[in-house]
Amino acid sequence: MVERILIKGSFLWDGISEDLRPEGAIIVEGKKIKSIISCTETDSSSYEKILDFSGLTILPGMIDCHTHHSMDATLENYLDRMKDSIPELTIRATAMMKKDLLSGVTTCRTLGDREYLDVACRESVKGGLTEGPRSIVAGKGIRAANGHGFVGYPFNGTEEISNAIKENLTAGADFIKIYITGTLRGGGNLPSYLTKEEIETAIITAHEAGLRVASHCVGGTGLDWALDLGLDTLEHAYHISDTQIEKLAKSNTLLVLTLSPILNDEIVNHYPKHLIQGHFDERDIITQSLKLIIDASIPFALGTDGNHGGLAEEAKYAVKLGASNFETLQAATINGAKICGIEKETGSLIPGKFADIIAVEGNPLEKISTLKNIKAVIQQGKLILAV
Ligand SMILES: [Zn+2]
Repeated sequence: MVERILIKGSFLWDGISEDLRPEGAIIVEGKKIKSIISCTETDSSSYEKILDFSGLTILPGMIDCHTHHSMDATLENYLDRMKDSIPELTIRATAMMKKDLLSGVTTCRTLGDREYLDVACRESVKGGLTEGPRSIVAGKGIRAANGHGFVGYPFNGTEEISNAIKENLTAGADFIKIYITGTLRGGGNLPSYLTKEEIETAIITAHEAGLRVASHCVGGTGLDWALDLGLDTLEHAYHISDTQIEKLAKSNTLLVLTLSPILNDEIVNHYPKHLIQGHFDERDIITQSLKLIIDASIPFALGTDGNHGGLAEEAKYAVKLGASNFETLQAATINGAKICGIEKETGSLIPGKFADIIAVEGNPLEKISTLKNIKAVIQQGKLILAV
């Protein structure tokens, strides 16, 4: 028999409406949400379990839409630490997944780890061997031999790129990650490390196999090509121009912002030494571009890019840059689900979806910092944390 659980809160935010629902309660059957009701509508004796979060607001579990399982931004020189041995990376990934889950992240999207470690992490959580967010994974990131990409693997020419995509597909990747540009603008020149033909090949080959393409791309000509060629998701967009923002707004390309790798001093200070000053130098200009994106009301999702457990901080930065609390909460929930292609399964509190639920104290629509203090986590109907 499927277990029926009643989850009661003082307020409920479903991920869609712009207001909280008072006395919101959720009936969970097995892994899924059966219905959303009012606490007063039901007789408690008809449930196997009752989770009483009176005084708290219940909302959808969060989605970290851009991370890497084995990356840990709290480590010195953390990007180079992606060269650590696979056993070290595996142990780190296991610890990071737990940290993510306890911070309220019930789903994450990983943009490349070494040797299909992300596929193993996904399967390990699915099989119940490890605790962590459900993962949507990119497998081996694809970068140009001369290009940027600390976690990417080098490939040259259209044939190698199309073979790399087929290898990823066989290994179990959920989508494809390519690196078009570096991160900094330097002297104003923002080269595309992949040629237009290589980007086109990546998109066509992935689409033929039913996979989406995500790209690390901050601007320049490569961004124009990618938008023209039908890129599915744009990651970072740090140096996007006014005209590219207009183009993005008219396109079907979805946007993922990663803010703390630029705005958090501690993370910037953990970059390889030769990259630290450049990031501080370009912070103001990048901040301007990010504000313009938000002013243009382009929907976005949020990612920590290896700052595990830090999605609440991403939300804080999004609000600082001008996003409303509502836009930011949607970025951390339903928009992330859309980018992962699983919006029918999670991202909002709707009957039929997985019971991915968190509880916070106070009203996150008024105070975004409530996300920092997670009081309860339920993943696919299973209670993970209640404090
Ligand atoms: Zn990344």
